Amino acid sequence: MRAGIGIDSHRLVAGRPLVIGGVEIPSELGLDGHSDADVLTHAIIDALLGAAAMGDIGQHFPDTDERWRGADSIELLQEVVAMVLDAGFGIVNVDCTVVMEAPKLSPHREQIRERLAGAMSIGTGRVNVKASTGERIGFVGRGEGVAAMAVASLSAPS
Ligand code: MG
Repeated sequence: MRAGIGIDSHRLVAGRPLVIGGVEIPSELGLDGHSDADVLTHAIIDALLGAAAMGDIGQHFPDTDERWRGADSIELLQEVVAMVLDAGFGIVNVDCTVVMEAPKLSPHREQIRERLAGAMSIGTGRVNVKASTGERIGFVGRGEGVAAMAVASLSAPS
């Protein structure tokens, strides 16, 4: 068994969609970034790459590369899953937490699980999505940004 961790954060700004785990959530503010800034999918990508000892998201999809401008992060996740599977690993489970003050994530949780599980070609029973807040302190609590953490476990190549 192999374990990997991923952490990401993005700034909340006006005029951008709020995409979390491949699901667009109705919100006045969205996440700023080179790609679609899907903070949760980025954390999961890093957790998978970490467990496989394959570096990090910035190495594979540099934000200096015009190819990834406005990129759909779910497509990046699918690419990373293909790399991990090609190397002989199997995805055992992914657990993650989104830390966001508003809007509430819980109404979208099942849709996010299904979207992520579909992108990774695993059952929803292997994907868990948790939501937390910043308790009104720090950049998350002040509503300036959103953070996400993920842990992935892989079965090692036999
Ligand atoms: Mg990111």
